[in-house]
Amino acid sequence: MITIDGSFGEGGGQILRSSLALSAITGEPVRIENVRANRSKPGLLRQHLTALNAVTEICGGHASGAELGSSEIMLRPGTVRPGNYVFSVGSAGSANLVLQTVLPVLLHLGQPSKVTVQGGTHNPSSPPFDFLTECFFPALRKIGYAVDGHLNAYGYYPAGGGEIVAKVGASNDLCSFEHLERGDEVSRSLEALISNLPGDIAKRELETASKILGIDCETGCSFRSTDSRGPGNALFGRLEYEHGSVLMAQFGQKRVSAEQVAKRLAKQMRTFEASSAAVDHHLADQLLLPMAIAKGGTFSTLRPSLHATTNAEIISKFTGRRISFETAGSHTVCVVR
Ligand code: AMP
Repeated sequence: MITIDGSFGEGGGQILRSSLALSAITGEPVRIENVRANRSKPGLLRQHLTALNAVTEICGGHASGAELGSSEIMLRPGTVRPGNYVFSVGSAGSANLVLQTVLPVLLHLGQPSKVTVQGGTHNPSSPPFDFLTECFFPALRKIGYAVDGHLNAYGYYPAGGGEIVAKVGASNDLCSFEHLERGDEVSRSLEALISNLPGDIAKRELETASKILGIDCETGCSFRSTDSRGPGNALFGRLEYEHGSVLMAQFGQKRVSAEQVAKRLAKQMRTFEASSAAVDHHLADQLLLPMAIAKGGTFSTLRPSLHATTNAEIISKFTGRRISFETAGSHTVCVVR
């Protein structure tokens, strides 16, 4: 049995999600202590409990400590089965992160499956669903995994009520993920999403961000009015390069002005543009696991985040893969051997 200290490194939910997925994939039982110890509300929240129950069901395993607030859990995996799975977070907790937990398990199996998850689809501190369809899934397809996704309903924090579906197909021959060069910038654009809130918020976000970034709003700004259970707002920045595109997101929050949201996004986009990285720091930490269970690979990214270095250690512990980060000039090269 592998024992993981959940307070180590970044000390958040990713340690739990990666450990659960890798336990199911490798068949190695796992005990995780000090679950999410570095978070203000440590232990299992609904999203993490849903992820634990979901992996347990998919791999026909046995879990202990599967309760809200639990700070220690154990999973004894059984045999992974393909199927038509439905999981509900029961709050606005991220449905996308629950999907990201079970997806590697089903992709590794390489047989057709369908996964529906109900919960939040556009939450702060999580990948928005658009990030999965525009960045994460295309990267997985480059490795040879067959995956596609669809959003049935938007769910914003705190009301939730969203639903996403992912379909996994039989995998082709897997290959290493190689993405060192991003090529020339092809386009830059902004999009504001708004649900049950005054449209003026989106207008101010787009005006502020486009001004800072020198984007012509006539051609480079768009607006998506979405239906959802509660109010919600997100601002996306898309940077399209010759060899792939990047989606950056900021979320509207109470007591944070539209201008502030726009300034944060513009700063994020400028930092990426000033580097020569091909992969942004979020995709970097999320790609390590799918790469490690396939044929590894190499990509350039920004200076590695604590999420990335922590995830790398967890992955190495289960798979024996060596993951290194070497900074050279304005980017870092990540190698999964
Ligand atoms: P944790 O905080 O450990 O639960 O992990 C959060 C995960 O969400 C990490 O994989 C982050 O890279 C990812 N994430 C957070 N914000 C974004 C965002 N705006 N776009 C894409 N991924 C994100």
